[in-house]
Amino acid sequence: MQGLMQHWPLLCSKVIDHAAIHHGKREVVSRSLEGPIHRTNYAEIRRRSLKLAKRLEQEGVVLGDRIATLAWNTWRHLECWYGIVGVGAIYHTVNPRLFPEQIAWIMNDAEDRLIFVDMTFLPILEAIAPKVPSLKKIVVLTDAAHLPETTLANVVPYEEWLAEADEDFAWKEFDETTAAGMCYTSGTTGNPKGVVYSHRSNILHSMIAQQGDAMALSSRDRVMPVVPLFHANGWGLAFTCPMGGAAMIMPGAKMDGASIYELLVAERVTMSAAVPTIWLMLLQHLEKAGGELPDFERVVIGGSACPRAMIRTFQDDYDVRVIHAWGMTEMSPLGTLCSLKPEYASLDGEALLDVAQTQGHPPFGIEMKVTDDENRAQPWDGRTFGRLKVKGPAVAGSYYKGIGNEVFEDDGWFDTGDVAHVDPNGYMQITDRAKDVIKSGGEWISTIDLENLAVGHPDVAEAAVIGVAHPKWDERPLLVVVQKEGRTVTKEDLLAFMEGKIARWWMPDDVAFVDQIPHTATGKIQKTTLRTQFADYRLPTA
Ligand code: AMP
Repeated sequence: MQGLMQHWPLLCSKVIDHAAIHHGKREVVSRSLEGPIHRTNYAEIRRRSLKLAKRLEQEGVVLGDRIATLAWNTWRHLECWYGIVGVGAIYHTVNPRLFPEQIAWIMNDAEDRLIFVDMTFLPILEAIAPKVPSLKKIVVLTDAAHLPETTLANVVPYEEWLAEADEDFAWKEFDETTAAGMCYTSGTTGNPKGVVYSHRSNILHSMIAQQGDAMALSSRDRVMPVVPLFHANGWGLAFTCPMGGAAMIMPGAKMDGASIYELLVAERVTMSAAVPTIWLMLLQHLEKAGGELPDFERVVIGGSACPRAMIRTFQDDYDVRVIHAWGMTEMSPLGTLCSLKPEYASLDGEALLDVAQTQGHPPFGIEMKVTDDENRAQPWDGRTFGRLKVKGPAVAGSYYKGIGNEVFEDDGWFDTGDVAHVDPNGYMQITDRAKDVIKSGGEWISTIDLENLAVGHPDVAEAAVIGVAHPKWDERPLLVVVQKEGRTVTKEDLLAFMEGKIARWWMPDDVAFVDQIPHTATGKIQKTTLRTQFADYRLPTA
């Protein structure tokens, strides 16, 4: 017998309808690219998204067309997402930090026919547009008065272009498994791989994110998505915030410590989300300039491992709860979040930090397991590492055009490429990317654990650990360190600081001091570049 309930297709347009009807006055505040702070609300965002959908239809955009965005987080970018999905097209977020050749490659792969672009990124398009023949129109996210001079053809200012349509439009209806969005993973080897979200997966992902042990956003929250919409589906926040009726504070192009601090305080932000590098800049700003974070309750930190010292500073100095999270572009992106189950609720001090430093546990909607190389499940003992594999309704089942599909196993599990262990209470901790883990004499050393420890030293701004060739042990750890401005620390100081906190054989064989550590387009330490940089490095122990 079938259930007799209604079929209510899970379409993204339903989210903005809900927000406009039930939280219509909730603010969407943006630092505009033109400069001033711009204020609007969900009712108005919906009205303009309807216009946008109609205007796209006038351009001939139809179901399944790919529409690119190359833009910072602002209200206009949000309108673009809802207008695009509302006409049945697919938003394709392009990361402006990629090399122009990579951008051209992914735009060609996706065959984008129109792009919404921030004026600051026009030079990128000027360089690559001739190489992307599918691209027929360029809409610059500003008005005619601010439109920069450009050599490009078919360029129009957004506001005037949008004004050519009215909002008399009904959202298109189609099957909920229809594609809604696309995001390419910034793979370190090979070409980028396209992840294609569906309307259904976006809605279910936001409902997953809304659980009490996850983001739990309410209409009392004022959320600042610092994580750009172009990084891993914007961590789902473009759907989760309006679904929960939370206000959105969009930082635009300015993500330095002082600008983020200014918005956090002035806009009474209660919750925010971004990669550790952003919070490093904020905390360094606060250390220098002073200041408090009176309304800021919780911060989701993920994308790369959140250092223990950062969790401590947020908690002890600013009374902000850190929710360490792990996820991937392929997972829409949330996988696990670190909230306290009753088993850990009474912890404090270092024991609490031990737990807070893990990537946490999955909400309903994510299944996970850790296996050895022969796909045998490993015990959840908090020690035994293995390959982390996941399943769920918002986890990719295939890459666009099937390229790189070997990570999707026959039994439906996605091999994340991360190495992790899980404790008896289900708390997962990433020890490394499979390709970064150091194999020393057949045993594995976690580079993330070593980095975490090193950045706990008061004179260290950033640290990275890579494996360097060793005649006896195959590989041994080299610690690469950026010192804090105006501070000096020696190799001996650092090693003494780490001594006793990790197994002896995990201790780095050497320390190299550098001015900066290379980062990927999504703010992760670029280990491939570091490994090339130190390819000929001779360890003193070799
Ligand atoms: P991306 O798809 O660009 O977000 O990258 C996903 C990858 O980032 C994961 O497979 C992990 O290797 C890494 N990652 C994400 N969050 C964390 C975290 N909290 N700790 C450690 N690594 C993380």
